[in-house]
Amino acid sequence: MGSDSKADGATPLEGVVAAGAVMVAAGALGAAQAAAGGGSRLLATLWHMAQVAVLVTDAQLRIVAVNPAFEQLTGYAEHEVLGAKPSLLQSGLQPHAFYEAMWQALGAHGVWQGEITNRRKDGTHFHEFLKIQAIRADEGGQVRCYVATFNDLTLEKAAQSQAQHLASHDLLTGLPNLLLMRDRAGQAMGQVGSGSCVMAVMLLDLDHFKAINDSLGQAGGDELLRQIGHALSTGVTSAETVSRRGGDEFVVLFPSADATLLPQMAQRVLVALADPFAVNGREAVVSASVGVAVYPSDGADFDTLLSHAEVAMYQAKESGRRCIRFFTDDMNQGARGRMDLLSDLSRAVSRGELRLHFQPVVNLASSVVVGAEALVRWERPGVGLVPPGEFIALAESSGLIMGIGQWVLNEACQHLARWRSMGLGHLHLAVNVSAMQFRQGQLEQQVSDALERSGCDPSRLELELTESVLMVRPDEVMAVIRRLKQRGVQLSIDDFGTGYSSLAYLRRLAVDKLKIDQSFVRDLTIDPDGAAIVRAVIQMARSLGLKTVGEGVETQVNRRALQVLGCDLGQGYFFGRPIGVADFEQAALRSSAVAALPPSGLGAGGRLGLRGSGLGS
Ligand code: C2E
Ligand code: MG
Ligand code: MG
Repeated sequence: MGSDSKADGATPLEGVVAAGAVMVAAGALGAAQAAAGGGSRLLATLWHMAQVAVLVTDAQLRIVAVNPAFEQLTGYAEHEVLGAKPSLLQSGLQPHAFYEAMWQALGAHGVWQGEITNRRKDGTHFHEFLKIQAIRADEGGQVRCYVATFNDLTLEKAAQSQAQHLASHDLLTGLPNLLLMRDRAGQAMGQVGSGSCVMAVMLLDLDHFKAINDSLGQAGGDELLRQIGHALSTGVTSAETVSRRGGDEFVVLFPSADATLLPQMAQRVLVALADPFAVNGREAVVSASVGVAVYPSDGADFDTLLSHAEVAMYQAKESGRRCIRFFTDDMNQGARGRMDLLSDLSRAVSRGELRLHFQPVVNLASSVVVGAEALVRWERPGVGLVPPGEFIALAESSGLIMGIGQWVLNEACQHLARWRSMGLGHLHLAVNVSAMQFRQGQLEQQVSDALERSGCDPSRLELELTESVLMVRPDEVMAVIRRLKQRGVQLSIDDFGTGYSSLAYLRRLAVDKLKIDQSFVRDLTIDPDGAAIVRAVIQMARSLGLKTVGEGVETQVNRRALQVLGCDLGQGYFFGRPIGVADFEQAALRSSAVAALPPSGLGAGGRLGLRGSGLGS
């Protein structure tokens, strides 16, 4: 503590300030009371009620009075401090020069105020706002006493710094938030940009976090995010900042890095996630897809860099996740293209830009057209006819597939109804159903609506599902399929052989058809193993009472090979490419007319000679 007298080097008044109290010379209180006239009781009440601590000393700096607020704040009872010097409150944190300046001001102006840290009886420090007033007998006269008032700023300061922390940090992980990171990036940008020294923004998105979150529950997921945040911050240096952007996305700012070393730096951060995390006694293994953008080459401000890091991160996801991608301009064009595509696609249904094409499915033995597969196309303004391969995946990931799927179902059922009235009621029409339509739980309703609106025969409608649809929540899928089958709708497995469906499962689903994927059909005549596989599939399907369709039949050789192996139906360019409805209807009418002819009327190139009928390629 400082001292109370000049003898030990400090000014005599230092102690008064240290005490942070008001000092009144003996009798000052009485004088004040006298001045208040009949108000002595009022003054006493104020003295006791005041929230602010008050301390009074005589001219020799001996404490002569303290109020209850003083006792409460400092922990000292009045009888413990009376006669003592206020220096008993000194924290030792203020330098000597601080007191000197203060007492100079007091001497010159008779008053001083400011912030100071003192010490309570129990040794803890508190920060206070202190005002000291010297009271003189008359103007220019001797100081009779000192009055000091002070209040505790500790809580206020704590609240202030907590508010500051909250405004700049993420609540869940306690990591700096993007505001703070943006600020730090701004400072870093001023210092880099010469030679190979760059600033880098790295965005990490956890892979499959939704599934992990679902399995751990909300609280477990939060705990995992906290642990990941902590692990990431231990993987960086003190100059680098880790922040959470929200959800399962983290951002790392490298304020200054050698561009050639960035790949290693990014890898170093990922190493922090390599070990499994333990949440509620369970192990969680996580990986991340990472995109990196670099200042100044990839953007002039933090927000541009972050959005470019995001573009690169999506590229990492597309490349199979668990990897790092650095932003390039090509990626940006790709991303912009996808945005435009998505925005145009979202209006395609309402603007009537979708078309259905029909690819004939024929009986391999008789070459008679038995039906078709409905394949969607998009007449995109200014672009032309866009094949489904270019927009179905995007429609699925964005949810637009729901509207598109509903449109296709409605359209298909309308065609089936019309075909019946045209004498083509024997034709079936297959519609592709995507996994998302199933997952959203609306497929059943969509099919019912389409059937009812059109009035078509449900047994002519065939739904094509891929094996992947069947793998997700098999029990729910099975229940929906059962109900659809009860309505008479047919079911086929598309691209069979590319997934992992079990035969027992297909049997339980009461599937009607297997469509053997074109990759097997293509290999049929080249690869003996391929032929063995197709033969096994056909035999197995037969034993389960399923029909088989060979997809992608492009040549007569393919067609014959399939037929020899016992495949029932075929679809492919050899019989006809997907075509508009009018062309398909004509071909189908021709086919049924030829089928009705006696055998002698058949052409030599196949029962129907479809290839010469305008359907072939
Ligand atoms: P998919 O269901 O397996 O349809 C068969 C695809 O193979 C069609 O391509 C068809 O034109 C093509 N193809 C047919 N025969 C041959 C052949 O001999 N050789 C070759 N190389 N290809 C042949 P498309 O029309 O481009 O459709 C591609 C995929 O888009 C479809 O594969 C299907 O998965 C999806 N798709 C098409 N329409 C829809 C739809 O309405 N909804 C959904 N969810 N997906 C659809
Ligand atoms: Mg299909
Ligand atoms: Mg297929």
